Amino acid sequence: MTASSETIARIHREAPLTDVHAHPSMKAWLFRRNLWHHYWSASGFDPLTSRTDFKMLEKGGVGVVWSALHLPERKLFKDCFVLGAAAFLLVPVYLRIMHGDPFERLLEIMDAMERELLRRPDRTELAQDVADIERIRRAGKIAFVHTVEGAHVLGPDVEKDLGTLARRGVAMITLTHFYSNGLAVPADGIPEGMIIKRLCRLNFGLGDTPALTDKGRTVLRKMSDLDMIVDVTHCNEAARAAVYAEVDSARPIVASHIGVKRYRHDPYNLHDDEIREIQRRNGGIGIIFMPYWLSSDEKEHHEGLPMIRKTMEHIHGVTGSWDHVMLGTDFDGFTDPPDDVQDASRLGEVTRMLLDDMQLAESDVKRILGGNAMRVLRAGWQ
Ligand SMILES: [Zn+2]
Repeated sequence: MTASSETIARIHREAPLTDVHAHPSMKAWLFRRNLWHHYWSASGFDPLTSRTDFKMLEKGGVGVVWSALHLPERKLFKDCFVLGAAAFLLVPVYLRIMHGDPFERLLEIMDAMERELLRRPDRTELAQDVADIERIRRAGKIAFVHTVEGAHVLGPDVEKDLGTLARRGVAMITLTHFYSNGLAVPADGIPEGMIIKRLCRLNFGLGDTPALTDKGRTVLRKMSDLDMIVDVTHCNEAARAAVYAEVDSARPIVASHIGVKRYRHDPYNLHDDEIREIQRRNGGIGIIFMPYWLSSDEKEHHEGLPMIRKTMEHIHGVTGSWDHVMLGTDFDGFTDPPDDVQDASRLGEVTRMLLDDMQLAESDVKRILGGNAMRVLRAGWQ
């Protein structure tokens, strides 16, 4: 029997369907877009698509979005003249990216996102704790949770800035991004063969040591004090190991948009021991919807669902449960999503796969789609 669209819609409502890593704010801030307007969502790498605007989220039955706020790294445009020139022409806020206090800029992005949420307060709302999410969901609206991707935005007084983020409701911070940031050293986060790699010599500082600095440790301690969740995505393996050693073992750790080494042996992806580490902490792994990270076999790249399934089954095989699998699409993060699930409106295809092809129990499906994410928030967020 195949699952009806009514069943899928009900499961999405009840789970609630949660994306633990998506970037609607990129389109709102970089391009000054109204998120109630859907542009287009073609397949392939296309920075101008809109995959997680509010219309796509509603159509897909998404209930909770961990909305990643990200200030593009200035070094990227300095390293890559062509990219800088393209951004100068296409991005209205290019000069704001390149100048001024990065932390102030991050708060601007947050303000822009909150303004979008207030356009239709009857349909979208910012949640600042788990009780908020439950209330917003009961009202039938989409709940948004602020997260920050890349701690390069923190100023010299990290404790003060982290306090500000906690007060604004930020639930999680991804410690690093493309460039070594004086806190943690990243793994190379840009796929081989991508045009900017062919055009530009990018010096990410991947050889920097130590992998986790004293300042990075201070950030982790303060985040624990403030009840914010650490996201190890983008950290290199040594930095991730240092984070596991540093963060209190009772706290959940998340890898929000990632694949597994089993299918792409790359420093970006998780080793089986790390999957078990995240399990021990009752954390979660958001599977990225980007073929490059899900499989090193390019022949598989046209269809995302089989790779997403294999990755889920691998995590299940390592942990013996579905309790640590989450969805972390990275939609609207300038990625190249799979052709069969190219925006949030198509997430029902994942649910159909879990029910019909994988024959999972409905309770497990709901855990994967949102229950695990809610558990992690309950355990790790203020
Ligand atoms: Zn990322």
